[in-house]
Amino acid sequence: QTTTKPPPLPSPLRFSKFFQSNMRILVTGGAGFIGSHLVDRLMENEKNEVIVADNYFTGSKDNLKKWIGHPRFELIRHDVTEPLLVEVDQIYHLACPASPIFYKYNPVKTIKTNVIGTLNMLGLAKRVGARILLTSTSEVYGDPLVHPQPESYWGNVNPIGVRSCYDEGKRVAETLMFDYHRQHGIEIRIARIFNTYGPRMNIDDGRVVSNFIAQALRGEPLTVQLPGTQTRSFCYVSDMVDGLIRLMEGENTGPINIGNPGEFTMLELAETVKELINPEVEIKKVENTPDDPRQRKPDITKAKELLGWEPKVKLRDGLPLMEEDFRLRLGVAKKN
Ligand code: NAD
Ligand code: UDP
Ligand code: UDP
Repeated sequence: QTTTKPPPLPSPLRFSKFFQSNMRILVTGGAGFIGSHLVDRLMENEKNEVIVADNYFTGSKDNLKKWIGHPRFELIRHDVTEPLLVEVDQIYHLACPASPIFYKYNPVKTIKTNVIGTLNMLGLAKRVGARILLTSTSEVYGDPLVHPQPESYWGNVNPIGVRSCYDEGKRVAETLMFDYHRQHGIEIRIARIFNTYGPRMNIDDGRVVSNFIAQALRGEPLTVQLPGTQTRSFCYVSDMVDGLIRLMEGENTGPINIGNPGEFTMLELAETVKELINPEVEIKKVENTPDDPRQRKPDITKAKELLGWEPKVKLRDGLPLMEEDFRLRLGVAKKN
């Protein structure tokens, strides 16, 4: 005689598998620029339930207004430096100010957000058996001495400078991710994001693309910080979101660079914005801030091979999409 044993309870508890219900996804920092675009994409899938936890430091409810009240969506005012108890299958952990003026505003808080915030989200992932993705940054390469930057490069970061709260904070966050993975078997994913731009960026957040577009629309000089020959590589937000979801759904822990390898000097960027948006404005050179990286360009070989991902939107095509959004928010109509 045979007895049928009940199937073992899933361990660690995976909510969607256990209850055969939707995939429940937490997005920390989901009221921010990249986070809100990620939420839009996740909500398109009817099998997803999305919970956003955000303290609204640099994000806003406005970015999520179309989802407020939706039965598959929940918004929690929460600071990730405090413990969070929710039951989820996946965590996209984005909470952290990304613009230098905001992360330097309260540097101790920036470190707490990166270190204690990531520790809490890892503790949560451990308790519920969730997979967790960290949005790290190209800033972990500091002022890079290797160009373009592959993931194997360990970086050149000043540990005591004014940018360190962010750079070193993200480096510790990556360390915590790998230690929880090795020590507790947590499923981790690390994206190293390079400069990203698009609609919904804070208009006056000081980042270069948002500054130049707002300046061009207001008819103010474009402020190129000295020397102007420093480079960045700009990724349009829809490409970024696509890369983040592929990384989460794939089998590789990373770190994986997600960015657009098209590299521009800040003077070239200013010229392009001027040509596309307002040929009348002047370009003005202004003082720079300390420790500004001189060059930055992702090596995306790994993203191509492991995720089948590469960016599709060129800077010249992405800038007009952002211009449209900024025109609406600034109330500046297009001249015919
Ligand atoms: P953002 O400032 O628009 O969004 C960050 C969000 O996190 C905001 O909604 C903010 O209110 C929230 N937040 C900040 N501290 C928090 C805390 N302690 N608790 C809860 N919420 C908190 O920035 P973004 O450009 O959307 O960046 C998102 C993520 O991507 C960040 O982790 C950032 O480090 C990373 N990243 C962005 C870029 C980029 O170019 N945008 C580049 C590299 C890395
Ligand atoms: N944590 C959390 N939500 C949870 C589980 C844990 O915010 O659902 C926090 C917890 O408060 C702790 C951190 O995550 O500060 C690390 O948790 P872990 O269990 O790994 O470590 P311990 O609590 O043993 O220090
Ligand atoms: N920058 C500039 N003018 C501005 C703002 C920034 O020339 O109004 C330069 C800045 O010196 C840096 C680059 O643009 O070299 C990117 O700066 P941002 O703050 O956008 O991002 P990050 O330094 O984090 O890459």
